Amino acid sequence: LRDWRILKEDYNISSKGGDIPNPLRYWEESNIKKEILDIVQSLGFDEPTPIQRASIPLAMASRDLIGIAKTGSGKTLAYIIPALNYLLQLPHLESRDQIPQVLILVPTRELALQVEKEFKKFTARLNLNIISLIGGHSIEENVNSINLGCEIVVATPGRLLDCYERKMISLAECYYVVLDEADRMIDMGFEVQVLKILKLLPTDQNRFTSKPRNTFMFTATMSPAIQKITKNYLNQPGTLTVGELGT
Ligand code: ADP
Ligand code: MG
Repeated sequence: LRDWRILKEDYNISSKGGDIPNPLRYWEESNIKKEILDIVQSLGFDEPTPIQRASIPLAMASRDLIGIAKTGSGKTLAYIIPALNYLLQLPHLESRDQIPQVLILVPTRELALQVEKEFKKFTARLNLNIISLIGGHSIEENVNSINLGCEIVVATPGRLLDCYERKMISLAECYYVVLDEADRMIDMGFEVQVLKILKLLPTDQNRFTSKPRNTFMFTATMSPAIQKITKNYLNQPGTLTVGELGT
């Protein structure tokens, strides 16, 4: 068996922030539910990418994380796979079908649609629903999609707040939250909206898992604004860096 240090060298991963679990050597080592891994494998993803190797065990340990890895390194599945695993372990209550339990915040419509597409490779077979709340869809369309079921919401910050302020959606059950391309959200001027949303999220213990909310942030850089979010809204995160980025 190769140890963590050697694996880190193999995959060019560095980490900091307390006890960081070893990176995955292969998918099965993650304890992700078989029905999810079956889909991963049927999609031809024979082995995890470095950021997936490092992020998935940390997410499975219910730790918050900051992931820094370049474009194209597979960050989407790094949070989608544990998100799906989280949802499948919750009891299914029909009364909660219109209340999101996983929230993904992204800077742009295009990215939201890409993330939705990636999730949809899984959700149909797992009987879960994902929706996008983004500009370019009318508010009526947003209402309709919420009503059809929305365990997973992927949203741009402005449109999510708009829906929240119209009382179309609750954030009270979002115990699994991802800020994807957080640095770009800041660069595009969404800092105020992102902070507003973070303040609306639950801070109590999740009654189904007896654990606090998990917050995952992916970013290319650690600017002061990103560090402020880290300090105020992430709980002792592990920081995972793949390659030389962010240094
Ligand atoms: P990032 O968000 O880091 O820029 P993406 O999540 O968009 O990267 O992934 C980039 C591409 O890599 C996508 O086409 C995705 O399907 C593919 N991909 C993701 N994980 C794997 C994997 N484990 N094996 C092979 N390809 C993968
Ligand atoms: Mg991405």
